[in-house]
Formats: sequence, C-alpha cells, structure tokens
Amino acid sequence: NAAIKPMVAGNWKMNGLKANQAEFEKIAAGLDADLTAKVDAMICPPATLISVLASASAASALKVGAQDCHAAASGAHTGDISAGMLADAGASAVIVGHSERRADHGESDADVAAKAAAAWQAGLGAIICVGETEAERKAGQAIAVVEQQLAGSVPDGATAQNTVIAYEPVWAIGTGLTPTADDVAEMHAAMRSNLAARFGGEGEAMRLLYGGSVKPGNAAELMAVADVNGALVGGASLKADDFLGILAAY
Ligand code: PEP
Repeated sequence: NAAIKPMVAGNWKMNGLKANQAEFEKIAAGLDADLTAKVDAMICPPATLISVLASASAASALKVGAQDCHAAASGAHTGDISAGMLADAGASAVIVGHSERRADHGESDADVAAKAAAAWQAGLGAIICVGETEAERKAGQAIAVVEQQLAGSVPDGATAQNTVIAYEPVWAIGTGLTPTADDVAEMHAAMRSNLAARFGGEGEAMRLLYGGSVKPGNAAELMAVADVNGALVGGASLKADDFLGILAAY
C-alpha cells in the first residue's frame, strides 16, 4: 500500500441541507497538515450542496465530489445533471455505479462506463463502484461478479489519476456487516491483478477503496488490508467526529 496515497471519500447520499455546512466545516478544520500529507479526503454531498460546500472548503484540503452524473454533456434530460455542471459547481470527482443507482435506476455496466467517460471528459475523476450481492457471495461468485463489473464499468483509458475503484459488497452497505479482512484481501488482490492485466502500471497504481459499514471502530483493521487504498464511507460520513475518527486510521 505504501506507494499509493490513500483516499477516504464520504457519500452523503440523499442527506444534507444547508444547515449541514457546519458538519462539513468541522471535517475541513480537522484535516491538519499531518493528516493531509498521508490521506486525501473528500465529501460527496447531494448535488444541491456542491457549490456551497466547495466555496466553504476553498481554503482547505477537503475536496468536494458528486454522487452521480448523466452520460451526456447537455441536452433534453429533465432532472439530470451533467459532469460538466458538477465540475462547474466545484466538484473534483463523481461517484458512478453505486449499487443504489444500479438497483434504484437500473443502471447497467455500460451505463456506468458511459458516465465514467463523461466524468473524464469534464475533467472529473471517476469513483467507479462494484460489489456483489449477498446471494452472489453465498453462491461463491463474488470475485467473478466483480471482475465482470470491472470489465463492463471501467472504460478503456482508465488511469490511476482519473479513476478510483470502490469495492462495496451490497450486503455490507448500511447494514453494519463487513466482510472479514481475509475476504477483503482476496477481493482486492483479484481486482488488482485484473486491473494490472488490463491497464498495466496504471492498474497497479489505481486506488482501490473498500466501502460498506466502515466506522471509526473498524477502519484501522480494514485500511490495513493489502491493496486497500482507502474507504468509501456512507453513514459514518454524516458526522464529523465519525469521519475524522475513520481518517485517524492513517
Ligand atoms: C456507501 O453507500 O457507499 C456506503 C459505504 O455506505 P455505509 O458506509 O453506510 O455502509
């Protein structure tokens, strides 16, 4: 893990009002030089808050990201938001292919790949999410499922700079359940060799995040697993103390 600077990204999902700016600012204030030398930190608020939080963090190391984008640059897509709009609002990256988007909006691997390519086009990093369901894990298919998602969701042209992969087992999201360190290590090793085979040195250097019920109490153990280069955090990113507690793993 030593050569890759880790990243901890918070996904606020559909939570957060202007009143939550104070929580965001508390996180920004907790990022001292010592910590920012070791780890990159980002919060992905709902789109309505990107511009206000990006302004609030202008002087800090805390980055602002988005949770989804449309694959097109502009056009007749009522209610959707393009990657260029997110960049314009102050986002530096966008999550694509989160399992909640795949489930709630029927997004396919091809949809996710198109969104990731749109993110790059707009100068945003893409945080591409993959992960198996509980039934797939029980059937012994977790690695095969994730490899298929990587093949379909990560476009050609992915680099360590423009892409972060987040492994998020669906059954671990918001449930308090986590895979064992051995299971995370097995999955991340499989993802690393898959990405290295396809993208060479870029795949070797790409950040691989673990996501799913990461909390202050389990972050150190999960972040110490080989080939885990940070975390994607849902629930525990909403409270500054929890998010800073996770960053304290570094
Ligand atoms: C997520 O949805 O990206 C996530 C990891 O959620 P939680 O941390 O709440 O399990």
